[in-house]
Amino acid sequence: MASIPDAIQTWQMVQPWTRNKETGEKTPGKLERTSIPAPELKPGEALVEIAGCGVCHTDLGYFYDGVPTVNKPPLTLGHEISGRVVAGEKDWIGKEVIIPAVMPCNNCPICAAGRGNRCLAQKMPGNSFGIYGGFSSHIAVPTADLCVVNDRKGMPLESLAVVADAVTTPYQAAMRAGLQKDDLVIITGVTGGVGVYMAQMAKAFGAKAVVGIARNPQKLERALQYGADYVISSAGKDIKQIRDEFRALCKGHGLPANYGWKIFEVTGSKGAQEIALAMLSFTGKLIWVGYSTNDNEYSLSRLMAFDAEIIGSWGCLPKYYPPALEMVLDGRVKIEPFVETRPMSTIQKTFEEAHAGELAKRIVLTPDF
Ligand SMILES: [Zn+2]
Ligand SMILES: [Zn+2]
Repeated sequence: MASIPDAIQTWQMVQPWTRNKETGEKTPGKLERTSIPAPELKPGEALVEIAGCGVCHTDLGYFYDGVPTVNKPPLTLGHEISGRVVAGEKDWIGKEVIIPAVMPCNNCPICAAGRGNRCLAQKMPGNSFGIYGGFSSHIAVPTADLCVVNDRKGMPLESLAVVADAVTTPYQAAMRAGLQKDDLVIITGVTGGVGVYMAQMAKAFGAKAVVGIARNPQKLERALQYGADYVISSAGKDIKQIRDEFRALCKGHGLPANYGWKIFEVTGSKGAQEIALAMLSFTGKLIWVGYSTNDNEYSLSRLMAFDAEIIGSWGCLPKYYPPALEMVLDGRVKIEPFVETRPMSTIQKTFEEAHAGELAKRIVLTPDF
């Protein structure tokens, strides 16, 4: 039985990287090991001893790229958390849990309408949850939406942290797309942190064909073992070449080239966004899952002509966590090939490597205070 701490050990973002608008000069951001008081638990809250917290692209956006957090620094980043309940109501003690990356208020018209993943009063650790985030020893959270892990079938609890975001984000996107058996699916960024799960999930939902588009040849090869039926390398090609390759692929495999495809854009990179927009055709759906700050150019009248849709997808409703977790535990969605755990004390180096795009796997940091 873990002991209940007086203080939370944590890696705080004291300040993010900043860039002087006139001179372009950059001031490095600062992550600092410190301790903060453990908050007093209110009814309906639990203190979770963190097993692992994944390093997400969103954290890097906050730290390096000027994306503002709702709560101003200093605060602890990290929203992809798994752990064990060590304090709170008796029934909860000892339970292993995944903490949803966004926790709805469950008390507003948006939540009542079943759209709580985009509740305006939602709380996200490492962003809008006060100073509290996942790169810590503990975190106090409401129990209402915790996803309980009853039997993790020998999988390390820390690895299951990726269910909090990287696995559930595609699940919500699949729901938004109305993904079902025999669907035709394209994923731009199929080799990335979300893409690897999007492809497996599409297959698990019974997609007839999953076409993955990305740049890295080794990772594209790997994608073929994890959900993708076909892959197209976008490296060094313009959009016309990619589309021609897609048409040839469809022709060769008896698939329609110009209608019915559901496209998932999961990167937030401009190049991939342009490909995704160009692939949208008759009766298609484009689900926008990646985030970026750039603008895109697209003739919206094409949507009318195509009778097509572009849909945004944010986070994931807590009610979808158990079925997404089930997919991981029963092996339909494999996470182990894509996860590497490291001690939390490597956070600065890990952030640097992740930011430089040098990592082949998602890093889950485990507390070693
Ligand atoms: Zn994230
Ligand atoms: Zn709400």
